[in-house]
Amino acid sequence: MSEAYREMWEKLNLDIPAHDGLLAVLGKFYGDIYMSQQNRLKGMEYLDFVLSEVHGLRIKELQDAKAQGRKVVGTFCVFVPEELTLAVDAVQVGLCAGAEAGFDAAEKLVPRNTCALIKSFIGFKLARLCPFTESCDLIVGETTCDGKKKAYEAFAAHAPMYVMEVPQQKNPADRALFRAEVVRYMEKLEELTGRKITAGNLAAAIKTVNAKRRALQRLNRLRAAQPTPISGRDVLLINQVSFYDDPVRFTASIEKLCDELEARVAKAEGVAPEGTPRLMLAGCPMAVPNWKLPYVIESSGAVIVGEESCIGTRNIRDLVADDGTTLDAMIDALVDRYMKIDCATFTPNAERQANILDMAKELSADGVIQYTLMFCQPYANEAIRVGQALADSGLPALAIETDYSMEDVAQLKTRVEAFVEMLK
Ligand code: SF4
Ligand code: SF4
Repeated sequence: MSEAYREMWEKLNLDIPAHDGLLAVLGKFYGDIYMSQQNRLKGMEYLDFVLSEVHGLRIKELQDAKAQGRKVVGTFCVFVPEELTLAVDAVQVGLCAGAEAGFDAAEKLVPRNTCALIKSFIGFKLARLCPFTESCDLIVGETTCDGKKKAYEAFAAHAPMYVMEVPQQKNPADRALFRAEVVRYMEKLEELTGRKITAGNLAAAIKTVNAKRRALQRLNRLRAAQPTPISGRDVLLINQVSFYDDPVRFTASIEKLCDELEARVAKAEGVAPEGTPRLMLAGCPMAVPNWKLPYVIESSGAVIVGEESCIGTRNIRDLVADDGTTLDAMIDALVDRYMKIDCATFTPNAERQANILDMAKELSADGVIQYTLMFCQPYANEAIRVGQALADSGLPALAIETDYSMEDVAQLKTRVEAFVEMLK
């Protein structure tokens, strides 16, 4: 990362020595996990570039946008509609973090037995390591799992928080509640930016976000080919970058990458040798730079062909209907789309099991690895039922509970290798 950014980081009040240390570790980790791959697509150079500039050029872009009067909104959950943020010409960035940093400080705000994802975003803030968080004019939390809900209360003393209510069930009363919350959030964004959300700007924003989701759907269809033409690690990175890159630029890059993939599929060129077991991941989101498990899997003789996760299919499966002509109709279309999200914080949530089975079938997966972050009650609970559903359908499955530390890598590798061996 260039020295030219140092002044910008200082202005953002980052802890410069600690931040330098983080970037050094991140660079090494990325080199080991990503640049060591053979036969990568040319289109991945764009993603390598974006990641190499994650705290540099992208932050500079956010600062430039702010200088022009635009606002930056940070989020932690796919329930916060990006369409609304774009409609008021604000920039939305994902703030979930995937590294152990500042955990000691975080554990003074939340209990030790809190999932790593939550401790990570708090730790990054308290240790002054995240230029995205420091660039935000508004940070939007949501009432999903109890861990996040309570963490936002503590986090509010340190950041400009706003919390959106997300229902826990999918009855008509829950839909009405979520619709009211969408309207309340629209009003908040209007107050923040001084801009009105209209049928015109919302229709354009819906088009932009649908295009991004369509590009990622195309990517998922192409990777389902046999042999699979792209590694799971690369697709995970693409999904991670989708949360903080400019949406229009990102979509164009992914469409281009898909053209390259199409040519590869036509030539039946795979990224792994024929007969390599095809695995699907299901469970908790994996935020940057949480690449531990995908690396373990793909260095154990398997290839990942799908991610049933919010940094994966759950975020792109459904589009917003774009045939509404009035603001009210568009809000309804947004609400309908977001209420289809099958997060484990819902009860009941039987559609998630059905979606996992459908996805595994579509991808011709040989097995499923359930990934649960330690102390995540919603996904740990569902892992039992999902495991049963997979067993009933005859799909081999392995359930893994882990966190961001590297201490269990050898143990994970032993378990994954045994699973892959069994599939072979
Ligand atoms: S898993 Fe649930 S709480 Fe987490 S980002 Fe996804 S929808 Fe939000
Ligand atoms: S991984 Fe689980 S506990 Fe952690 S934020 Fe997501 S839903 Fe909550």
